[in-house]
Formats: sequence, structure tokens, C-alpha cells
Amino acid sequence: MACVFCQIVHGELPSHVVAENDEFLAFLSIYPNTLGATVVIPKQHFSSYAFNLDDEILFKLVKFTKQVAKKLDLYFEDVARTAMVFEGFGVDHVHAKLFPMHGTQHTQHHWQPIKSLVDLYFDQYQGYISSHDYQREDDAKLAALAQKIRAMPH
Ligand SMILES: [Zn+2]
Repeated sequence: MACVFCQIVHGELPSHVVAENDEFLAFLSIYPNTLGATVVIPKQHFSSYAFNLDDEILFKLVKFTKQVAKKLDLYFEDVARTAMVFEGFGVDHVHAKLFPMHGTQHTQHHWQPIKSLVDLYFDQYQGYISSHDYQREDDAKLAALAQKIRAMPH
């Protein structure tokens, strides 16, 4: 059986479409954790790790996702920015998730920092990504890690 996103593309499952072109589709998440959370997919099925996509497909997906994000910014009066996340452990069909950042309207013409109050560190992926800062890390530890990562092939 086709994956749920392919079923949406083929009209076998309903969806609340917010934008579409020949190759891509954007629809509201049916499990939103904030108003207007949106899923953006290529109509063609690709496995869900975005960084395994061919550059051309990834860039086109990001370009379409940007257009959708701007629509969300425009629609929601309290949103100056929308965040994009690639995870892919919910459905194995590559998708970008868009999260309108409600309450950011005051930053639209004048950037201001917004701090998080979250106090969590992740030893393992918990089924979601958080972008909050945690405690200041030791520079010697960071330098050693950076050196090892730099040595990896690309
Ligand atoms: Zn699919």
C-alpha cells in the first residue's frame, strides 16, 4: 500500500491543501502543535531523509517550502517568521514541516531576541527536534568534537 502522503497526492486521503504546483503539495498538518502547522512534500515519493535527496530535488522542495512559509507569514497577523524542519520519522516520504511562530509579529521590522525557557538536553532523539539553547558548553570539548568532525570525508 502506498504511504499516506502518496495517498494524499493521489486523492485517496483527504487533505487541507494550502498550496500546490505540478511537483509539490503543501497541506495543513492534521496533528498541529501550533495553528497553521503545515507539511510540504514532493508529489513523487522519496524516502524521508532530506539530505539523501538529489540536490536539484532538495533545492526545489526548499524553494517551494519558502513560498508556502511566506504565505503563512502573510496570513497570520501575529507571525513574522515561520520555521522549517526536516525530520522524517513520522512518515517515510520526504517532507518539510512548517511551524508559524505565533507571537513574533513585533520582530517583523526590528529584530529582537526571544529566549526560550526550556531546560532540556537530549542524549537521544525524542521524536521531535527542539532548537532551544541549553547550558554553555566547555570550549575544549567543543574544539575536540569540531576537530573530529572536520576530519570526516564529505
Ligand atoms: Zn509516498
